[in-house]
Amino acid sequence: MTTTHGGPVAALPGGAFLAEIRARLPGLRLLDDPIDLESYRRDETPYVAAGRPLAVALPTETSEVAELVRLAAARRVPIVPRGAGTGLSGGANGIEGGLTIAFTRMDRILEIDDANLVAVVQPGVVNAELKRAVAAKGLFYAPDPASYETCTIGGNLGTNAGGLCCVKYGQTRDSVLGLEVVLADGSIVRTGGRNAKDVAGYSLTHLIVGSQGTLGIVTEATLRLRPAPPARLTLLAFFADVDAAGRAVAALAPAGLAPVTLELLDHETILAVDDAFGLGLDRDAAAMLLVESDLPAAAAAAELDRAEREALACGATSVVRAADATEADWLRQARREALHALERQGVVKMEDVVVPRARVPELLRAITAIADRHAVRCATFGHAGDGNLHPNFVFAPDDPSAEATLAAMQDELYRAAIELGGSMTGEHGVGLARVEWLELQRGADAVRVMRAIKHALDPLGILNPGKVLPPD
Ligand SMILES: Cc1cc2nc3c(=O)[nH]c(=O)nc-3n(C[C@H](O)[C@H](O)[C@H](O)COP(=O)(O)OP(=O)(O)OC[C@H]3O[C@@H](n4cnc5c(N)ncnc54)[C@H](O)[C@@H]3O)c2cc1C
Repeated sequence: MTTTHGGPVAALPGGAFLAEIRARLPGLRLLDDPIDLESYRRDETPYVAAGRPLAVALPTETSEVAELVRLAAARRVPIVPRGAGTGLSGGANGIEGGLTIAFTRMDRILEIDDANLVAVVQPGVVNAELKRAVAAKGLFYAPDPASYETCTIGGNLGTNAGGLCCVKYGQTRDSVLGLEVVLADGSIVRTGGRNAKDVAGYSLTHLIVGSQGTLGIVTEATLRLRPAPPARLTLLAFFADVDAAGRAVAALAPAGLAPVTLELLDHETILAVDDAFGLGLDRDAAAMLLVESDLPAAAAAAELDRAEREALACGATSVVRAADATEADWLRQARREALHALERQGVVKMEDVVVPRARVPELLRAITAIADRHAVRCATFGHAGDGNLHPNFVFAPDDPSAEATLAAMQDELYRAAIELGGSMTGEHGVGLARVEWLELQRGADAVRVMRAIKHALDPLGILNPGKVLPPD
C-alpha cells in the first residue's frame, strides 16, 4: 500500500505508533488534533498535492529526532521535515498518515565563534534572527531569501535557498561548513566542521544541502560568517521595455561590476508593489532594476555611477538613487514583499527558472510569449543578476482550469529555460511541484545516480518520499 505520493504508509494503526512515541519520548510536544494538523498540510505552494499528517512532532534536541526516526523506520512511517513552511515547491507538504517533524522549537543559536567566523545553530533558527545576532558582533551571514524574516536555516539548507545577495555571496550552500544529520536509520553523522578548507572524502555536506529532507534530517549547522560589509548604496533604473532591462542585466558583469543586489521587477510587479506600499515608483515603466553596492563608500558610489552609465546605454529612461539607508530598506523590503503584493490579485503560482545571465533577455521574451499564449496574467521579478527569474502566473481563485493550464505553462517554461541552457528551478527546489520534469532537466542517467544515492541513504524510502525524485 502506498500514499498518494508513492511513499510507504504506516504498517500499523497510527494510534499505536503515537502511543509508542509518547512512551519513549514523554517530554516531546506531539500534535495530533485534526485542527492543528491542518496547518501543517502544505507550504506556500498552490496547486500541488498535500496530505494531512498523522501527527506533528516538535522536538527540541537531536536525540529526540533520532528516536523519532528510529520509531518511524520500525513502522515504515514516512517523515516530512519542516521549517517555517514558506517553501515554494511543496517540499514540506504533509503526507497522509506520515509524521511531520517541525523544527520551530529547535531554534537556538548555539555559538557565534568570531575568531573562526562561524556560527553553530539549530535548524529552527529564523534566518533574520541569525543575521541580527551576528550583526551585533560586527559579522554577516550572507544568505538572504526574500522570506528571511520567517524562513528557517533548516529550510534554507533543505532548499539550498538563494536570495537577493546571492549574486555576490552565493547560495546557502556557499555559507555552510558542516552539518549534524540524522540518517534514515536514526544514526547521527557529522559532516565537515569549522575548517575553512576540508576535502577529506566525499562532500556529504553538499549532498545534504538542497536535498529537501529526502536524504537526511539536519539537526545542527555550522555556518560561515563574514565581516559585516559597509551599508549599501542603492540605485533604481527604469526602462520603457523589458528587453532593455534584460540587456542592462547582461551588460553589468562584462563591465567589471559585481553588485551585491541586481533585481528585476516588471511592469505588473512595479504596479503591485507600488499599490501595496505607495513608493512612488515610475508606474509607466515596463521594468525596473534594483542595483546595490556594498563596497566601501567611495568605491560603492563609483560602482553605482558605472552601473548607471551601463543602464542608460542600454536604454534606461530614468535612474534614481535611494536618499538614505531607510529609503533603501524600503525599496528592498518592497521587492521582498512582491509575492504577497501580487497575492492580492488572485492565486499566484510563482515559478523559479534560471538561465545564464547573458540570456535573461531571451528568457523574458519566452515568459511573455507563454503567458500571452495561455492568456494568463503574469508578473515577473527576481534575482536577475543570477539569471534567476520568478514568473508569477496569477489565476482567479475559482478558475476550474487553473491546474491544467498551469501544468501546460510549466512544461513550456521549463523547456524554454532548458533550451536557453538553464534550469527549471534556481532556488525553490523540485519538491513536489516539479517532480515530473526532473528527468527532462537532468537526463535519465543522472536521475539513476540520484536514485542510487537515495536508496543507499534511505533504503526504506521513509524520508520525505515522493519529493524531488519521481516515483520509480
Ligand atoms: C514571500 C516569499 C519569498 C521567498 N523568497 C525566496 C528567495 O528569495 N529565495 C529562495 O531561495 N526562496 C525564497 N522563498 C522560498 C522559501 O522561503 C525558501 O525555500 C526557504 O528556504 C524555506 O524555508 P522554510 O523554513 O520555510 O522551510 P520549509 O518550507 O518548511 O521546508 C523547505 C524544505 O526543506 C526541508 N527541510 C526543512 N527543515 C529541514 C531539516 N531540518 N532537515 C532537512 N530538510 C529540511 C523540507 O522538507 C522542505 O523540503 C520565498 C518564499 C516566500 C513565501
